[in-house]
Amino acid sequence: MVTRFAPSPTGLLHLGHAASALAGWHAARTAGGRFLLRLEDIDPQRCRPGYAQAILEDLGWLGLDWDGEVRVQSGHLDDYRCVLGNLHRRGLLYECFCSRAAIARETALSVAAPHVSPDHVPLYPGTCRRLDPELRRRRSAAGEPFVLRLDMRSALAGLACTERALLARDADTGRDRQCHPERFGDVVLARRDVPASYHLCVTHDDWLQGVTLVVRGEDLLPATDVHRLLQALMGWTPPAWSHHHLLLDRDGRRLAKRDGAPTLRAMRADGMTAAHVRALAGFP
Ligand code: GLU
Repeated sequence: MVTRFAPSPTGLLHLGHAASALAGWHAARTAGGRFLLRLEDIDPQRCRPGYAQAILEDLGWLGLDWDGEVRVQSGHLDDYRCVLGNLHRRGLLYECFCSRAAIARETALSVAAPHVSPDHVPLYPGTCRRLDPELRRRRSAAGEPFVLRLDMRSALAGLACTERALLARDADTGRDRQCHPERFGDVVLARRDVPASYHLCVTHDDWLQGVTLVVRGEDLLPATDVHRLLQALMGWTPPAWSHHHLLLDRDGRRLAKRDGAPTLRAMRADGMTAAHVRALAGFP
């Protein structure tokens, strides 16, 4: 059993993070397995080294320990470039030069109702997928900024027969769930300002680090379908998944950094002990 906690250092940890980290830690330790810590800090606009340091301290204060070195994603950008290169050579990625505004304009012109992906982004209408390859080459050679998108239809069509039914194992029920990555359309795998997307890095690292059980919040359940597809395309053994319920505040809203959920730091400053916080997170 190998589990992990993989926060993005974009803010301080709150009780919801503590619950997630404790769930992964507990699963590994009760099975005599390994618990890993990974900092998903590829987005330089949103991540801060100060938060990364605070995360390590807060987890230590909670009483969590982890095995081996902390993997810091920003130190491994070549790994992600390598995966992107592989998919690109196989014709599964294409450069997309469309701005958000251009996509919104194009979607508005369409007669059909706009489709939205499970993460609430309008589905990409495929404009740059249809670009003439020579024009695409010239635009990128001229330095026009682009994102890299997965050609979803080609990716699904190219899967081997055994992988056609993309299944994700739910560790809590023991059942396999049918994945539908097509609901995301031509998902972005590398951004203009960030060399690789969350989907690509998380899937690569879970495979590289031998993670066998991904424990995380149910808000990330839909993204699992894209992850399962990337695993199939790259021949990476999939882990099982346990998506836990999110902790809610008194008004029934999910705890989130942006809504000012109380941080572990603030709870500690208020005199709460780590044992108290662990109990609140459901792990007395
Ligand atoms: N880094 C992601 C986040 O902080 C979580 C990644 C994952 O657990 O798959 O939201």
